[in-house]
Amino acid sequence: MEQDFQASQLGLYIHIPFCLTKCGYCSFFTLPFRQSSLYEYVGYIEKEKVLYRYQLKRPLATIYFGGGTPSLLSAEQIMAILEGLNILPDAEITLEINPLQITEQYLKALKTTPVNRLSIGMQSMNNSELAWLNRHHNMEQIIDKIALCRKENFNNISLDLIYGLPNSSVQTVQQTVDAYLKLQPEHISCYLLTLDEDCPLADEIDKLPNEDILAEQYEYLCSYLKQAGYTHYEISNFAIPGFESKHNLRYWKSEDYLALGVSASGWIYPMRYQNPVDINAYYENVKNRVIFPQKEELSNQRIIQDYLMMGLRLREGINLQEFNERFQIPLMEIYREQINKLIKIKMLTLQEGNLALTEQALFVSNRVIGDLIL
Ligand code: SF4
Repeated sequence: MEQDFQASQLGLYIHIPFCLTKCGYCSFFTLPFRQSSLYEYVGYIEKEKVLYRYQLKRPLATIYFGGGTPSLLSAEQIMAILEGLNILPDAEITLEINPLQITEQYLKALKTTPVNRLSIGMQSMNNSELAWLNRHHNMEQIIDKIALCRKENFNNISLDLIYGLPNSSVQTVQQTVDAYLKLQPEHISCYLLTLDEDCPLADEIDKLPNEDILAEQYEYLCSYLKQAGYTHYEISNFAIPGFESKHNLRYWKSEDYLALGVSASGWIYPMRYQNPVDINAYYENVKNRVIFPQKEELSNQRIIQDYLMMGLRLREGINLQEFNERFQIPLMEIYREQINKLIKIKMLTLQEGNLALTEQALFVSNRVIGDLIL
């Protein structure tokens, strides 16, 4: 058993909460950047890493620096965080990067680290949309920045795209996608803009397009990117074949991942845990050598529900045989009635042993999955 454990692969998420400014649509937990605060924080991540040394004996298949703004880390800080980890030679190591922090000097420094995938918080290629989102870069800068990444041999680049902005239409989405395609990213993540009541742009909620317009934009994105050669492999994600996000696939396939840093949450079967969403409480926990804070051991029923919730986000869906092997019970035995009902109204399809959302269910996936598991 011990051997099995040590051989089983793991993903690692590292959260860096600091940001230079607050984006208008953001309701994530973030902290204002100060060099001294980041320095102190990295020290805690290193200490937290030691607390999980038993789990971290497992080979790391993926590592993801997310935030916040992880590109505030220097190459030396990235190396300090990665030091001593059991990283597989072909591991995917992603860094979310703010376009403004892409400089020749920073990219050259990153090349001295094992980071091999960049996820760029571009959001749009329309300057008035970028200004409305309170992003501090513009489309002209982005073109130069991506060229710089290519020059420094970063060949696995993911770009974020936000749709559903005020006054947006299929035409504005098309303009943005055309501009993205010229940059030839290996991966594109498309997010629907949502404004929570506590985000700086909360007063603008009334200006967002209605659901029909949003559905039209989403469907357009899906078909346009497909035509351009991208595989639509997850509800919001598109990739040139072979460049799907290996780290995010771990989430969607309910595979183990450890998470370090304030507010980060992890999944180590059969347990979820979450670090405090408060920097001082997080520091206290690390000082007191607390591991797996707020841990919750899930019942088999909850694990199955989460597995379906995440797995159905993938266009390939859930393989019934794999489900059976994993849970020792056929999926149809648990959910036959709901599955048949959803197949009948063309929200689910069952083909070649895979249960998946239909094309028309994608935009309303939460409701469909809710109908299945609740
Ligand atoms: S959207 Fe990202 S970069 Fe902007 S404030 Fe939120 S976490 Fe920071």
